[in-house]
Amino acid sequence: MQEIITNMSTLRFNAVKESLKRSPLNIEEPKRRSEAFGSNVFNEASMRQYLTKSALDGIVESINKGTKIDRLMADHISVGMKEWAISKGATHYTHWFQPLTGATAEKHDAFFETVGHGLAIEKFDGSQLVQQEPDASSFPHGGIRNTFEARGYTAWDPTSPAFIYGTTLCIPTVFVSYTGEALDYKTPLLRALQAVDSAAAAVCKYFDKNVRKVSASLGWEQEYFLIDNGLATSRPDIVLAGRTLLGHSPAKGQQLDDHYFGTIPTRAMAYMRDLENECVLLGIPVKTRHNEVAPNQFELAPIFEEANLAVDHNSLLMDVMQKVAKRHHFKVLLHEKPFAGVNGSGKHNNWSLRTDTGVNLLSPGKTPMSSLQFLTFFINTIKAVDEYEELLRAAIASVSNDHRLGANEAPPAIISVFIGNQLTNVLNELETVTKGKLSPQEKTDLKLNVVGKIPEILLDNTDRNRTSPFAFTGNKFEFRAVGSKANCANPMIVLNSIVAKQLIAFKYEVDDLINNKDMKKDDAIFNVLREYIKTSKRILFEGNGYSEAWQKEAKKRGLSNNKTTPEALQVKISDKTVKLFESLGVLNKVESEARYGIEMEEYILHVQIESRVLGDIARNHVVPTAVRYQNILIENVTGLKTIYGDKFKKLATGQLSLIEEISNHIEAINFLVTEMTEARKSCNKYVDLYKKATGYCNKVKPIFEKIRYHCDKLELMIDDELWPLTKYRELLFTK
Ligand code: ADP
Ligand code: MG
Repeated sequence: MQEIITNMSTLRFNAVKESLKRSPLNIEEPKRRSEAFGSNVFNEASMRQYLTKSALDGIVESINKGTKIDRLMADHISVGMKEWAISKGATHYTHWFQPLTGATAEKHDAFFETVGHGLAIEKFDGSQLVQQEPDASSFPHGGIRNTFEARGYTAWDPTSPAFIYGTTLCIPTVFVSYTGEALDYKTPLLRALQAVDSAAAAVCKYFDKNVRKVSASLGWEQEYFLIDNGLATSRPDIVLAGRTLLGHSPAKGQQLDDHYFGTIPTRAMAYMRDLENECVLLGIPVKTRHNEVAPNQFELAPIFEEANLAVDHNSLLMDVMQKVAKRHHFKVLLHEKPFAGVNGSGKHNNWSLRTDTGVNLLSPGKTPMSSLQFLTFFINTIKAVDEYEELLRAAIASVSNDHRLGANEAPPAIISVFIGNQLTNVLNELETVTKGKLSPQEKTDLKLNVVGKIPEILLDNTDRNRTSPFAFTGNKFEFRAVGSKANCANPMIVLNSIVAKQLIAFKYEVDDLINNKDMKKDDAIFNVLREYIKTSKRILFEGNGYSEAWQKEAKKRGLSNNKTTPEALQVKISDKTVKLFESLGVLNKVESEARYGIEMEEYILHVQIESRVLGDIARNHVVPTAVRYQNILIENVTGLKTIYGDKFKKLATGQLSLIEEISNHIEAINFLVTEMTEARKSCNKYVDLYKKATGYCNKVKPIFEKIRYHCDKLELMIDDELWPLTKYRELLFTK
C-alpha cells in the first residue's frame, strides 16, 4: 500500500525523509549468470527434456522454415510445455501479446480444471496453446472491428519461446481480428521480417548459393529514469502523465557532466542487479549497464538478437522493470522527456541482417567478393532510407518523442544517414572510378582499389556522430531517434519493409542487366549500386544534425522535417506507403488506415490528459498555495503597519512587491487555464482526426509552456515549506 500523506507542507518533507531512509536491497546473485540464463524459458534445452522427438522436430522446423504446426503436434507440445511449466511452479497460463496500446496484454487462465465427482486435474491442450479469445473489445482497433462483433483472437508465435513470469506460463502470440486483420505489433512485424528474409536471401544468392534464410537482428539500448517511488507518487503529473508538467530547474542540473558513466548509486545498483537477474532467468541477454547524462538516468542494453525476439524481450523488459522497481521503492520513468532542462531518454535500435550461414551482411568481408556483398546491403539500405525517410520519421512519432526530436540532445526530426568519412570516400570513389559499362581492367582496379580497402578502413572506423538519427557504426546501422517508451516493432516494421522493397527492386534491376544487357553479374551489381550512390546522396549527412544550418540545407535537399506527430503521421496513409505495405503483404489498406487512426487518436488523448492534469495542478495546487503564502505576506505587512505606522512602507517594500507579483501570476494562470480549456472544447468539436489532432497540437499544447512559466516563477517565490509539489532537486538528486 502506498502511504497517503494529506498535509501538503509535510508531504515533500516526509517523502524525501522516507526515501533517504531506504537502503539498497540485498540481492543474491546466481553463481554464474550463464547457468541461470533462460531457466524460465521453454527453450531448446527444456524442450529436449519435455518433448517427444517428433514434437521437438516439428517446433524446430516451424521456427526455421515457418511451417505450420498441426493440431496433433500442438497437443503433443502442449503436454510437454505444461509439465515443464508446472515443474517450475506455474499455476496459470496466458497468451501474451502486444496490442496497439503500446503495453503488453495478458489474461490468465488456471491449468486447474474440475472433471466432476469432486475431482480436479491440471489441463492444457493444443487448442489452448494455439489459440485464445480474449474479450478484445476495448483494445484499440482503429475501426476494424465493430463492437458488436468485437472478437479478436490470439494465435501462438512459436518463433518466440514461451516463458514463465511469476507463476504464469506466458505464450507469445499475435493478435488478429476475426476477419484476419492485425490488431497488434507482432503480426506486421513477422510479415516484414518474412519480406526482408526472402528479398535479402534472393540477393545473397549472387554471392553465396548456400544462403537459405536471412534474419534481421536488433540490439536495443533502453534508457530510463529511476525515481524514488514516494517522491514520484507525490506528483500528480508523474502519476497520470508519466512526466513532470511543471517544476523549476534546480540550481545544479547536468552541467557538470558528473553523472554520465559515473559510479552507479548503491540503491540503483541493487535495482539493476535484481532486474538483470530477472532478465537472465527470462532469457533476455542483458549485457551493459551505466549511468546516463542526466541525474538519476540510466541505460540497460542486451546482446542483440533476432528482431522478433528482441522486440518481445524489450516489451517484456519494460514490464519487468516496473515490477522489480516496486520491490526497491522506485518508479521507472520510461517517458522520453520526464524533466525539462535535463536530457530525455531514447532507445537506440541497432539493426543488421544475418544469413543462416553466419554472415553479418553489414560487416565488411575480407575478400573483394564479400566486400561487394557488404556494399550491396550497405548501399541498398541507404537507398531505402532515402526513398522512405518520411515514413521512417513517422515510425518513431509519438506525443512524448516530440519533446525530444530536435531538442538538441536527440537526433532531429529530419532523417539522414551518417556513414563516416572513410566510407564516404569509398562511395565517392566507386561513383567516379567507373564510367558506363565496366571494362575488365577497371573492374580489377576497382576491386583492388576500392572494395579491397574496406575491411581495413572499417576496423578503425571509430568515427561517431551522435547527432545523426541513422548512423552506420562499423557492422550495423543504429537508428537513434526511437523513443524510450516506444515498442521497437514500429520502427522495425518500417525499416525491414523498406529494405525488403529496395532489395527486390535491386534484384530486378541487376537481373535485367544480366539477362537483357548481357552484362556479367559483378558488372551489373556495380552499375546498379553506382546509380544508387548518385541518386541517394541527399540522405547522407556528416555534419552537425543539431545545427540551424542543417535545417536549411535539408529543406534545400527536399528532406522532410515534420516536427510534430500529427504532421509526421500523414505519410502513413499516403498512396506510396499503402502500396509499399500492400505489395509486401505487411499491412493491407484497411490495416494501414486503422493504425494511422489509432495513433492520431492516441496523440489527441495524451495531449488532452496532460492538459487536464496541468489545469488541475495549476488551479488546485499552485494557485491555492500562492494565495496562502500571499496571505502570510499580507498579515506580515499589516503587522508592520500596526507597529510602525507610516514608516511600514519602507520596511515592507519586498513583501509588497511579492504580493503584487503573486497576484499577477495568479491572474495569468487563471486566464491561461481558462483559455486552454476553451481551446480543448473547440478542438473536441472536430470530427476530422487531422483537424482535431493539429488543433490539440497547435492550440492546446502551446499553452502548457505559458502556464508552466507562471507556476515555475511562483515556485521560486513561495516559501519552500508551503510548496506542495516535490521539486526537481528532490526528484533528481535523491539517491
Ligand atoms: P554504443 O552504441 O552504446 O556505443 P555498442 O555499439 O557496443 O554500444 O553496441 C550497442 C548495441 O548494438 C548493443 O545492444 C549490441 O547488442 C548491438 N549490436 C551489435 N552488433 C549488432 C548487430 N549485428 N545487429 C544488431 N545489433 C547489434
Ligand atoms: Mg548506441
